[in-house]
Amino acid sequence: MKKRKDKKGAKCRIRRDDIVIAVAGKEKAAGKTGKVLKVISGKGKVIVQGLNYLKKTLRPSQQSPKGGIIDKEAPIPISNVMIYCPKCARGVRVGIRRYEDGTKVRFCKRCDETIGKA
Ligand SMILES: [Zn+2]
Repeated sequence: MKKRKDKKGAKCRIRRDDIVIAVAGKEKAAGKTGKVLKVISGKGKVIVQGLNYLKKTLRPSQQSPKGGIIDKEAPIPISNVMIYCPKCARGVRVGIRRYEDGTKVRFCKRCDETIGKA
């Protein structure tokens, strides 16, 4: 399968440490919010704290002779999450606003609230 690149991050304005909400996906996680731990931009995926846990079985080792199961967040497609706006209490689209001094901020297109630096 060929890798397809998204058009220059047109709608992916998600950064690490953003709070996002799951809006799609197989998991019952839809509607859950979490903090973005990592953005894998090349793959168009994000790892969100508390979302899309993957159970990983550990083989018995010296550290844990019985082996075990750990929960680890698995990457989910960026398109399955949206920036969460605390004011709207829902996932929203964000825009980018540029000030005269050059600073750019992201804002909620719904309520106009600033979400963070762009
Ligand atoms: Zn809003």
